[in-house]
Amino acid sequence: MAKDPIYLDNQATTPLAPEVFDVMVPWLRDNFGNPHSAHILGRKAAAAVEVAREQVGELLPKGGDLLFTGSATEAINLGFGASYAGQAAGRNKIIVLESEHAAVRDTALSYTKRGFTVEMHPVGSDGIVSLDQLSAAIDDKTAIVAAMLVNNEIGVIQPVEAITELAHRKGALMLCDVVQGYGRVAIPEHIDMAAISAHKIYGPKGIGALWVRDGIALPPLIHGGGQERGIRSGTLSPALCAGFGRAAALCQDRWDSDAAHIGALADKAMDCFADWTVNGSTSHRYVGNLNIRREGIDVARLMSDVRSVAFSAGSACASGSGRPSHVLAALGLEPAQIKSSIRLGFGRYNDLKDIEMASKFINEAVEAQLV
Ligand code: PLP
Repeated sequence: MAKDPIYLDNQATTPLAPEVFDVMVPWLRDNFGNPHSAHILGRKAAAAVEVAREQVGELLPKGGDLLFTGSATEAINLGFGASYAGQAAGRNKIIVLESEHAAVRDTALSYTKRGFTVEMHPVGSDGIVSLDQLSAAIDDKTAIVAAMLVNNEIGVIQPVEAITELAHRKGALMLCDVVQGYGRVAIPEHIDMAAISAHKIYGPKGIGALWVRDGIALPPLIHGGGQERGIRSGTLSPALCAGFGRAAALCQDRWDSDAAHIGALADKAMDCFADWTVNGSTSHRYVGNLNIRREGIDVARLMSDVRSVAFSAGSACASGSGRPSHVLAALGLEPAQIKSSIRLGFGRYNDLKDIEMASKFINEAVEAQLV
């Protein structure tokens, strides 16, 4: 059997933590009750869902509620409903950063069909938004500002608290995609909505959540039995919820040790890839995401030459689409520079040997291309 590749794509998804697997198994194998049933089996399942809600909520601001969804993409789509529900007439503008994930960009753009003006707000060459420029863009007509905490492609961290203050000053809501930051970076206290995803924190795929501040009106996106607070319909999976909860609790328990571990891997990687240029800010970033370029190389060829390492060209979502990365383009990189960029993502289950071996394989393949 072929050996598993060294996994350095922890922004695309993370392996399931063994502790998470263990907590999910009884809900898959033995406890089949519908958490929305009134009898004892249902109540047992519902209790597990509520424990998970609390565990996931521990890492989120106070004063809000958590709605489980099928993914962060669904959570983001749900959150954008606040652009029109409960808003004063005339608030018909949405501002999102140019470097947002497609889940935010494309959802925002869909609101043009509802008569909204959607502004893709630029970021600087370091990937970070200028607060002065953003302040000038947000006006009394702005319903929602969406800015992500940690960028999935380049790892840069936006000044979300300051952006939130600018949004609130003009009466706009702040929606934050915290998918890549949750469990790793403190979540800004004053945001109005946050979208998260279990499979980015060593939890299962197929579950995400929207945290929403009390008092914000959200129209349902998925209609039916109204199982989640009357807003999101569909039977919840206790297994997925329990797994999400355990994954969140593990992030909380291991906060310092995970951070120290990722920091050590990142330091090693910086040494091993010293001949490469980092894309985006080198100071305001989550160090577990290293997006680097080496001019003159062909990344498609590199990826096919280095099968023993699982890494990504640009974002996992954009790769395969044939579209050049909109995030790297937003930094002002030339198409050739974008095509010579790779993303390496380090996680809890990597070790220093992974970085050593992966850098050896990648750098050797690069040198072979450059001769
Ligand atoms: N937002 C960011 C920043 C992401 O990295 C991802 C996943 O790639 C998503 C949103 C979408 O998450 P999900 O896979 O749960 O829909």
